[in-house]
Amino acid sequence: MSGARILFSFAHPDDESFTGAGVACQCAAAGAELALVTATRGQAGKVGDPPVCTRDELPATRERELRAAAEILDIRQVHVLDYKDKALAEAAPDRIRTDLVSVLRAFRPHIVVTFDPNGLNQHPDHIAISRFTSDAIAAAADGRWASDGQPHRVDRLLWTPSVPPWELARQADLALHPGIDFVFDIEPWRERKVAALRAHRTQHLAIDRLWFSQDDVERLLSVEAYRQAWGPALTEVPMRELPLAAYE
Ligand SMILES: [Zn+2]
Repeated sequence: MSGARILFSFAHPDDESFTGAGVACQCAAAGAELALVTATRGQAGKVGDPPVCTRDELPATRERELRAAAEILDIRQVHVLDYKDKALAEAAPDRIRTDLVSVLRAFRPHIVVTFDPNGLNQHPDHIAISRFTSDAIAAAADGRWASDGQPHRVDRLLWTPSVPPWELARQADLALHPGIDFVFDIEPWRERKVAALRAHRTQHLAIDRLWFSQDDVERLLSVEAYRQAWGPALTEVPMRELPLAAYE
């Protein structure tokens, strides 16, 4: 069994289920330990139609949905930060760096997964967490940055892929796309990805539109991909599994 530790760093409750659910299950099944940091409670999001909760209840409701999804995905540690949804880019850089460095130095992940620098879909919060995560990874390795814990160096950073997750399975030549460095067959964990997405009940409108109303939903939910930002050289592209054996 692998002793790998993998940290997912995202902006909103549901990002982890959209982009990482299958690979989280796959890595947990291989023995990896998983943690998630989510920078906001998604408090500016929708409440559902019919409403699942009031707007005042939305932050707490979305945090509960996130924790339920994480449990389905075997993500044992969930850190929910208190930044403003739809305004994450305005977070004080020192403050969010300190928060993320604390998580990095405590959990000491070998691999970190976050959004690519364009935020997958150009969402400003996704772009912001990508930037803050890279900043924090560099700071976590350097003892001069004042934060608790011993410095820690991450081995590999993965980004969301150059093709949107809900489109991956439709690309005939996926292996030829630049920005597709890992392609995972997650069919064995498809039902858990479905359950994790469904756990975000307040977000059912977007989730139904992007996933569950599609004719080829089973195929769409059977593949996930990542781009390697940096880390050890890949022996081939795309790789079909994470080289977790390196982290015994
Ligand atoms: Zn998001």
